[in-house]
Formats: sequence, structure tokens, C-alpha cells
Amino acid sequence: MTDRDRAPESVDLSTPNAARMYDFFLGGKDNLAPDRAAAEMVLQIAPQIRIAAQQNRAFLGRAVRYLAEAGIRQFLDVGTGLPTQNNVHQVAHAVVPDAPVVYVDNDPVVLAHGRAILAGSKNVHIVQADLRRPEEILENPEVRERIDFDRPFAILLVAIVHFLQDADDPEKIVARFRDALPPGGHLVLSHVCGDALPEAVAPVTEIYRRSSTPIITRSTERIRGFFGDLELVEPGLANVSAWRPDTVEAKRVNERYPQGYFLAGVARKP
Ligand code: SAH
Repeated sequence: MTDRDRAPESVDLSTPNAARMYDFFLGGKDNLAPDRAAAEMVLQIAPQIRIAAQQNRAFLGRAVRYLAEAGIRQFLDVGTGLPTQNNVHQVAHAVVPDAPVVYVDNDPVVLAHGRAILAGSKNVHIVQADLRRPEEILENPEVRERIDFDRPFAILLVAIVHFLQDADDPEKIVARFRDALPPGGHLVLSHVCGDALPEAVAPVTEIYRRSSTPIITRSTERIRGFFGDLELVEPGLANVSAWRPDTVEAKRVNERYPQGYFLAGVARKP
């Protein structure tokens, strides 16, 4: 099945799109020529971004496994991305086979792929909604039916908050999600950070500005602020590859790429 078959007619596939550019960085096949061209331009400015994207994905897997092992039994993943390897439900279900996982995304292509690939997985559900309208997610009956907000659950905002513009008030949006967590609930968040590569910020931002999904890099301090007064678990806010690297390969990548192009943390509501 091709993207044209899966994507609703109204989707403009000639404009690069961040979900498909990210898929390209990860070595996936669900990307088209305009996505690859834009992604190649990004790599010319900052070749590190390919590794950073792969490390972000690896962080997501480690964070979900950490949470499942710590007793979290429900996952709300906002910004699903195109299905790839080690999707959240696969990692979670390897530890807790019946944990409900609800995926949320606003991209019709992601939803079409997600539904085609995830359909049939037990306790997995995918919902179309937009992070810019938190109530659309937090009050969504399909979400509420599967996630019990009175019991600890994890909200995953991994590699998505940088798609919120400052005019969207990302601090307010993320706070709304933190407020929805009960005690013992967790927030997982990662975000591109411009501090380690300031000269790349303007040209990379410009490439994404011409995509359907403009990106905003933010400073370490602003990214830390998204966790509010939740308690960051060890090692705190860190470069994605430095967040609990658990295999020889992950430790090697962390030593080789110590710089924080992508920062991440996992925090617990007291
Ligand atoms: N969380 C995954 C995928 C990140 S790609 C990972 O880290 O590997 C970012 C995803 O966020 C894309 O699928 C994109 O469609 C989605 N996204 C971007 N802005 C969004 C918004 N405002 N509302 C919902 N989803 C959004």
C-alpha cells in the first residue's frame, strides 16, 4: 500500500512533513521525495541530527520500559509518529502485556498508517486530536474510556512540544497535561535544544518553516520548565543518549555523542 492509498485525498504530500522527515532520519520507508529532500538539507547543516533522532527514539523505548518496570500500567502517547520499531505499546507490553496504550496524533498520514499497523493489537487505541487543544485529548471519551485518570499513568510528549509555536503557549499546554496526572503519574518529554549548536538553529528552523510542521528549538532552561514541579527521576534532564543508557551500544553512543541536541526527562508527580 502506498502513502497515496493510505492518505486522505485532502493531504498535500508535496510539502515536507516532520513526521515523515523523522521517519527518514530513523531509516524508515514511510517518507516521500519532498520529505527526503528537506531532511537531506537539514543533514547538510547538522549531520548530528540523524543520530539525535535515532537516540531520541531509543530514549523513548528506555523510558517506557523504565515506567512499566516501575509499575505504570497505562500510557497516553501524544505525538505517535509513524509506526517504526519499538513502538510504545510493544515496549510496554513486553513488561505488562495488558497495559492500555492510547496513541494521539493530528497528522492524517500518521493516523492512517497507525490504524493500518496497530489495528488488531490488543489494548492499543489511536485517536486523532491536536496537542494545541489539550481538552480535545484530556476530555476525549475514547481516551477516558481506556485511561483511568485516577490511577497513575504516563503522559508521553516525546519529540512533539518543539512543534508548538511560542504563540501556542507551550508552557500553558504542558502544564495542563501535568495537572491531569494523579500522584504517582509520570510525564515523559523530549525536545530539540539549540544550545549545543547555536549556528544551526536559524537554517534548520527555516527548512522546517517551509514544511507543514514548523519546529522551534528551545533552551535547556525552557525545556526544564516544562516539567514544572514534578520530580525528575535520575539522571534528571539529560541528553537523550545520556538518559539511562542500558546496553553496551547505548553507552558507546552516549560517549561518542555527548552533546545535547535533544534533551529529555522523565518526571513523577509527587
Ligand atoms: N513520539 C515519537 C514520534 C515523534 S514525531 C518519537 O519520539 O519517536 C512527532 C509527531 O508529533 C508526529 O507524528 C506529528 O504528526 C505529531 N504532532 C506534531 N504536532 C502535533 C500536534 N499539534 N498535535 C498532535 N500531534 C502532533
